[in-house]
Amino acid sequence: MKRVLITGAAGFLGSHLCDRFIAEGYRVVAMDNLITGDLKNIEHLFPLEQFEFYNHDVSKFIHVSGELDYILHFASPASPIDYLKIPIQTLKVGSLGIHNCLGLAMAKNARLMIASTSEVYGDPQVHPQKEEYWGHVNPVGPRGVYDEAKRFQEAMTMAYHTYHGLETRIVRIFNTYGPRMRLNDGRVLPAFIGQALRGEDLTVFGDGSQTRSFCYVDDLVEGIYRLLMSDYAHPVNVGNPDEITIGDFAEEIIKLTGTDQKVIYKDLPKDDPTQRQPDITKAREILGWEPKVSRSEGLKITYDYFKSLPEEELYKKEHKDFKDFIRVKK
Ligand code: UDP
Repeated sequence: MKRVLITGAAGFLGSHLCDRFIAEGYRVVAMDNLITGDLKNIEHLFPLEQFEFYNHDVSKFIHVSGELDYILHFASPASPIDYLKIPIQTLKVGSLGIHNCLGLAMAKNARLMIASTSEVYGDPQVHPQKEEYWGHVNPVGPRGVYDEAKRFQEAMTMAYHTYHGLETRIVRIFNTYGPRMRLNDGRVLPAFIGQALRGEDLTVFGDGSQTRSFCYVDDLVEGIYRLLMSDYAHPVNVGNPDEITIGDFAEEIIKLTGTDQKVIYKDLPKDDPTQRQPDITKAREILGWEPKVSRSEGLKITYDYFKSLPEEELYKKEHKDFKDFIRVKK
């Protein structure tokens, strides 16, 4: 049985990756410090003999006994509200954390994959975004802590690949959604659905003309799995190119939920990217991958998941004061 270490295993993506690797017959070593992750996402795996969990901060030295075939470094806050609230931890998990993971990969002779992001393109001036585009990031802006940590991670991973010959993979993940997102993580989809469920108006930031392209989590996990098994060491975009404005997205959520609430407009956060759409030519050619789940199907599944949560989840307000602190007028 092959053995995989997944950091950030109790998070949204990490937990879906745990499920996938268990289903593929792997032993899974799951690690998370539970700052933004939640054990509820992986508690169904605890009874399995082939699943182990360690509550550990990967920006500190990592020890794993026994062999490892793969390491997936997915630990990091991923919602703008989260990484604004904990900027230093975000930088540390992206820098010290990847250094520890790379050292472990060398020691175990394991193949390592990092979760990179469309944020490496910043507020992109090239559209759609191809992997060759170097990006447009403000290093000292509020999002810089995440964007630069991820850019450093890519550089560090590439250096271990070229200098040490380590087997590495870099996936650039675009906006992803699905069950196990935190209802109160501040990202647009849980924010809108949470508002609809609580009978509040939907808060569109700016005039709603900014765009995003949303990928359903199962499609993303398939792309990640294929990339890990491929022999391609350069970055690959994995996302759904079906682009939509945030204003239209709010209307879709209003229709989906049947809420009679309306859209209200709030100030746009600083450095909020104006457009984002992955060019997935590489993923198509190298991995034979493209997304299969339409936004209407994926949103329906996600809405059903949020509706099934206990009522108190709906009213858990995180980072409220902080949100007010970071929002600035354009
Ligand atoms: N957004 C919004 N209302 C919200 C939360 C987010 O209009 O309640 C906007 C946000 O300004 C951004 C887009 O939705 O333009 C996506 O934001 P999210 O935080 O989900 O992720 P991002 O893609 O910016 O990292």
